Amino acid sequence: MIVVKVGGRKELDYDAVCADVAAQWKAGQKLVLVHGGSYQTNVVAHELGHPPQFVTSVSGYVSRRTDARTLEIFEMVYCGKMNKQIVESLQKQGVNAIGLSGIDGRLLEGKRKSAIKVVIDGRKRVLRDDYTGTVKEVNCDLINLLLGAGYLPVVAPLAISYESEAMNVDGDRAAAAIAASMNAEQLIILSNVPGLLREFPDESTLIEHIPAERVEDYMGFAEGRMKKKVMGAAEAVAQGVGKVIFGDARLAAPVAAAIAGQGTVIE
Ligand code: ADP
Repeated sequence: MIVVKVGGRKELDYDAVCADVAAQWKAGQKLVLVHGGSYQTNVVAHELGHPPQFVTSVSGYVSRRTDARTLEIFEMVYCGKMNKQIVESLQKQGVNAIGLSGIDGRLLEGKRKSAIKVVIDGRKRVLRDDYTGTVKEVNCDLINLLLGAGYLPVVAPLAISYESEAMNVDGDRAAAAIAASMNAEQLIILSNVPGLLREFPDESTLIEHIPAERVEDYMGFAEGRMKKKVMGAAEAVAQGVGKVIFGDARLAAPVAAAIAGQGTVIE
């Protein structure tokens, strides 16, 4: 089986991605689809008068500040609008997709960060009311149950903490955890770029291949959110996923292109 993660940018054409996912599925490819939703979350957060905030950890990673109200908005958009739109699109293509978040059936379980250390205006601060965490366990029985019964699981990257609180988790790293736990052959991470670029945003500087044992050496090329993708890829290959591909979601058949080796291939 393979795991496909599709990003959450404004310009992504989800129907086109779903058409290709459906084609793979109908050709007999077992897969799990994980989706983003960052752009829509920002739009709805503004509309609801709770604008998004991003924080930078002391180690330099940017993530969404997730207070209790943001978590509610995150659930509305990811579990609601984004997840159902993708399930509907796959259903229109004749695929019996089923949407669920990591909260459902404890699909994705992990540790909530009780305190996050961030840098705000150059000063270090500790935030204690943040609902973010890291996936540690994947309920593979549930995924196998669904796949075995012919359903295509569409996963919104929220997780449940050991104390049964909902939390926001990084979608790329959640997809990496699913791929690793399910012994997936491939993890395909689709975004609005051709892959990891040596000189972002120059798309002619695509890095076509990264040896699995050297992924972390390439972290320096990634800026901002791309760092989490490289981190997820490093985690996936370290845990036995055969191949990770950063592919271009804007292509006509993005999953097929990634499987054919277009993008940044890490193996
Ligand atoms: P998604 O929502 O699709 O998961 P993100 O916005 O989280 O995607 O991450 C992809 C973004 O990372 C790209 O749109 C690009 O702006 C940024 N980026 C930073 N550095 C690089 C790089 N070296 N190569 C490619 N993209 C990069």
